Amino acid sequence: MLGGTLMFAGDKFKEECGVFGIYAPGQKVAEVTNYALYALQHRGQESAGIAVSDGKSIKMEKGMGLVSEVFNGSKIDRFKGHIAAGHVRYSTMGSSSLLNAQPLLIRYRKGSLAIGHNGNLVNGEEIRDQLEEVGSIFQTTTDSEIVAHLIARLENDDFVESVKEALTFLRGAFAFVMITEDRLIGIRDPYGLRPLSLGILEDNFVLASETCAFDTIGAQFIRDIEPGEMVVIDEEGITSHRFAKKEKEALCIFEFIYFARPDSNLHGKNVHLVRRELGKQLAREHPVEADIVTGVPDSSISAASGVAEGMGLPYEMGLVKNRYIGRTFIQPSQKIRSLGVKLKLNAVKQVIEGKRVIMVDDSIVRGTTSLQIVQMLRNAGAKEVHVRISSPPVVGSCYYGIDTSSTKELLGAQKTVEEIRRFIKADTLGYLSVEGMIASTGMNVDSFCKACFELSYLFDHSKKIRKNFFEKISR
Ligand code: SF4
Repeated sequence: MLGGTLMFAGDKFKEECGVFGIYAPGQKVAEVTNYALYALQHRGQESAGIAVSDGKSIKMEKGMGLVSEVFNGSKIDRFKGHIAAGHVRYSTMGSSSLLNAQPLLIRYRKGSLAIGHNGNLVNGEEIRDQLEEVGSIFQTTTDSEIVAHLIARLENDDFVESVKEALTFLRGAFAFVMITEDRLIGIRDPYGLRPLSLGILEDNFVLASETCAFDTIGAQFIRDIEPGEMVVIDEEGITSHRFAKKEKEALCIFEFIYFARPDSNLHGKNVHLVRRELGKQLAREHPVEADIVTGVPDSSISAASGVAEGMGLPYEMGLVKNRYIGRTFIQPSQKIRSLGVKLKLNAVKQVIEGKRVIMVDDSIVRGTTSLQIVQMLRNAGAKEVHVRISSPPVVGSCYYGIDTSSTKELLGAQKTVEEIRRFIKADTLGYLSVEGMIASTGMNVDSFCKACFELSYLFDHSKKIRKNFFEKISR
């Protein structure tokens, strides 16, 4: 996946997944789950899946493509049941295939379990190797299957205790939504790297990666699942369990910069408003004489509006996105890749011509897209093109579920800001500072993971899992 054979014209970091869950006795929940997945579609477009339990057994449908392509009316109607888990996927680990689509449904001695995961385990391979040594056979390359095997092997009499124990072996980023025949479970890793929120829909509990899914289905936000917390929802109601002590909270800051939908709230803050603050701060840090500000649609528009406000300049729709290109497609050559940008974006000549343009984007990954957009603006008659980026340079890869490309391909890791400016052929280039980025969120510096900006990784990646692991899983 990395390395550019499969890369959308956006040349962006990619979120791994979106998850949703609902427990609604007496209701048919598949349709609601379907709508919630529509709302989470931006978090993954490669596959979609829904698992539904009627209290006795779990049925599942999943397929490659967008939610609308995988689920039509009759498929949804066939689902009977009141507990559901839904998933949309972009793969960073494991190949993009139907086998790896989620939720993953396993049947074992004690029943069935469907798991949807957002994130990436840093010790997934190590656990997988050890499980294989004691006889586990894997059908997929997903982290969800590792967790499923762990739960099955660590079988205590109490299922909830098994899950809690399995979670103690995991290191990395994870937000899980799981269902059994009679329960819905939501889990967030001890750092809270990936988001997961709890809501209520007509007295019934729902879980979602982002609050925009609650708005779509008419649910009310209750609270975020705490880092290191597992919530179990069943006929008794909701119970909260702690499987790990809360570490320093470290939500991925890229959720605010780029991944999350602008109408979602994270940490109680609206994403659009935070992006606007990022833009205002960017204007303070890198002022420049110009005529108009434009943003690369869609994710940079909020930040661009902040830059415009901060610099006292008009925001103009200088770039228009074709919304009907579809998702990731194979771009085998540089020539076709460059055509990809033109298929996806176009400059509005009448807006750009003769103007000194500030072009705002949320990040630069490999720089090829930025170069083409700068060129596009110049071809449309821009007198000057000043690029402003509403995040700091990314200098390291992400190990927590975000496809950041390898360090070799990351422009920020390979070049200075001046070299990047020359590479993308901009008149000036300004990145937001790490301090400015954090200040714009209005939150504490310790609230976020910012490892890819500072190489300040949360885990010692060489550390092995604890010694008694092998004994436990060979039981
Ligand atoms: S390393 Fe970067 S992309 Fe990965 S979780 Fe941390 S902030 Fe997000």
